[in-house]
Amino acid sequence: QLVIYYGEYRSLVLDDGTMASDAIGFWDYLDTYLRSMHLKAGHGGHTDSGEVGDFGYWLAVIDFIGFILGGFFVFFMLQTYPTCWKCSRYLRKITKTGQMFPDHGQFAKYYDTLFQHPVDSRPFADLMKGNPKVRKPALGTVLVGSDLLGCEHCKTQLLAQKVQILGKKGWKDIAKLTRNVRLPDGVDLRQVVTPG
Ligand SMILES: [Zn+2]
Repeated sequence: QLVIYYGEYRSLVLDDGTMASDAIGFWDYLDTYLRSMHLKAGHGGHTDSGEVGDFGYWLAVIDFIGFILGGFFVFFMLQTYPTCWKCSRYLRKITKTGQMFPDHGQFAKYYDTLFQHPVDSRPFADLMKGNPKVRKPALGTVLVGSDLLGCEHCKTQLLAQKVQILGKKGWKDIAKLTRNVRLPDGVDLRQVVTPG
């Protein structure tokens, strides 16, 4: 945060063309800057508090806390993001596909048998590309979304599947059927996980 203030200080040019940094020291600048901030409230900010004075320091502290919380928030968001189990880099989405099943029975047959086949086998590819004819989703239609993620560094891939069922209130996640399957070294499913 100080670096940001300092950057503004170094680049500030006064009305007469002189650099602020030639005219005033950084700490004096910062003190003036913080004290002379204005608070605006109401619609379109038409209520002006005038210069905030000492309160400017508190505003800087509040800014700082926001800064830290924002950082933590991003950090924890990224914690849930899938990473490569070999080199710890974040995985990138390579391709994706969606498959719909008219009822739970046909879905279960697909879901339970898919990984009984080796991931680089023909039956596995056929199941991944198979698209049972569902013209219009109806109550009970099951949607499987498959994302193929890969590590740009070591080329390792992960197949992530998410299952949703169409209920009265729209598509509903079935969280317990979500699965992330690590693919063996050297397996490339880019030709198998294809849209449509
Ligand atoms: Zn990797």
